[in-house]
Amino acid sequence: MELILSDLRIPIEKDGMDEYVKAASQQLEIDAGNIFIAKILSKSLDASSKEQFYYKISLIVTTPDNFQNKQNLPVYSEPVKANRKTTNIKGRPVIVGFGPAGMFAALELIDYGLKPLIFERGKKIEERFVDVQKFIKEREINPESNIQFGEGGAGSYSDGKLFSRRNNNSSYVNRVLKTFIKFGAPEEIGYISKPHLGMVKRNIFLQVSILLWDILRAIPLR
Ligand SMILES: Cc1cc2nc3c(=O)[nH]c(=O)nc-3n(C[C@H](O)[C@H](O)[C@H](O)COP(=O)(O)OP(=O)(O)OC[C@H]3O[C@@H](n4cnc5c(N)ncnc54)[C@H](O)[C@@H]3O)c2cc1C
Repeated sequence: MELILSDLRIPIEKDGMDEYVKAASQQLEIDAGNIFIAKILSKSLDASSKEQFYYKISLIVTTPDNFQNKQNLPVYSEPVKANRKTTNIKGRPVIVGFGPAGMFAALELIDYGLKPLIFERGKKIEERFVDVQKFIKEREINPESNIQFGEGGAGSYSDGKLFSRRNNNSSYVNRVLKTFIKFGAPEEIGYISKPHLGMVKRNIFLQVSILLWDILRAIPLR
């Protein structure tokens, strides 16, 4: 049986698989040798106590077949797979904007064998950087290239922390996280709370550019 154990508290200096198994075996009241950690669902820092910082960990744990779930812990079931439909669309779908939504729309459509046309009104990330700096230093805004507009979308100049609905473990969210991993993010983004993504969006941009050849820049749709 696979059970979900939520919010196990591990002192940060003891962090590691052995401690997770120990905490799980205490919660389930069975021998550590009889359980197996199938997946780390989430991991976040709990700094509410100044004396001791903890990681709050949620796990999927495999228990022996004869295990009696007396605490009525939630049983894990595989997320329902998103149905991939085939399409009869002919021609090229249009995507307006190459922020995260545009990027994932492009990857999805490419998966269907389509070749979307992408319109992005802002500049390339390197050129945007100059305009953003100019705004920060001189308070002079370029309406077409700024914090909001341009390759990578609105959050490109944030510190790169990923906000997602990771905890609900839905197949859609997992697919997004897996895509980030495929494009170079570390595996741990699958369970760390608000992880850092680094250059992943740039890698997706490059991949989509290679696949499509023609991302149309500086052509705003009004
Ligand atoms: C300053 C800031 C910091 C942020 N920090 C974080 C963070 O740390 N972590 C996090 O997870 N989220 C963060 N966010 C939120 C995140 O950026 C957004 O959730 C995300 O960008 C939304 O993606 P999107 O593709 O829907 O829209 P957007 O990212 O806004 O992308 C829309 C794109 O469309 C283009 N566009 C708009 N109009 C036209 C047009 N007429 N023609 C052609 N192109 C057009 C724009 O140039 C833009 O590139 C931050 C947002 C901001 C503003």
